[in-house]
Amino acid sequence: MALTTDTLTIWMNNFANKVEENKQHLSDLDTPIGDGDHGFNMDRGMKAVEQKLATKPADLTTGFKTIAMALISTVGGASGPLYGTAFLEMAKKSTSTEDIGELLDAALAGIQMRGGAKPGDKTMVDVWSTLVPDVKAGNLTEDKIKESVEATKDMVAKKGRASYLGERSKGHIDPGSESSSYLFKAMLETEGL
Ligand code: ADP
Ligand code: MG
Ligand code: MG
Repeated sequence: MALTTDTLTIWMNNFANKVEENKQHLSDLDTPIGDGDHGFNMDRGMKAVEQKLATKPADLTTGFKTIAMALISTVGGASGPLYGTAFLEMAKKSTSTEDIGELLDAALAGIQMRGGAKPGDKTMVDVWSTLVPDVKAGNLTEDKIKESVEATKDMVAKKGRASYLGERSKGHIDPGSESSSYLFKAMLETEGL
């Protein structure tokens, strides 16, 4: 499916709403295996994104760049640069394609390049690497999104703050995977995507 500046804005505003509604939940997930700030970080970032997108971007590439810059400058922590990189890579990719699957593929590659996490390391990469192929195949569902987040629960963290806990990180859902699930859910709900 081809993304436009209009569907990008609808998608991002929906993502921002989900983050806002669940910011306490996201920070609660980050409390036992992190520093309890993930929801507040993401809510600050997505509010900035919403504000920037209130002015219609000239084109898709400008839109992605604007989102990336807003996230990099406001989210902070580990997730800020990672989400920021995801959107920067989509900005670059959008000069040659508007296909959502291709764009998300580039975003995932960027997250992995930046953070060095592999699937199974209990990071947002787990959700992205599970769901991007589903987006490309056109068979992403709510259930698959939920399962990909649940799967992080029994993993031992190898990257980020949760990795300091080693085996004790088991039994907790990864907060960045939960926030990423909202991005995919918001995409699924965007008509024309
Ligand atoms: P911080 O840990 O700096 O407080 P956040 O709480 O905002 O940052 O974000 C934590 C989330 O970032 C984790 O739940 C995980 O999904 C993600 N994360 C951390 N390190 C990495 C990494 N190296 N690669 C991919 N994702 C990561
Ligand atoms: Mg944190
Ligand atoms: Mg922090």
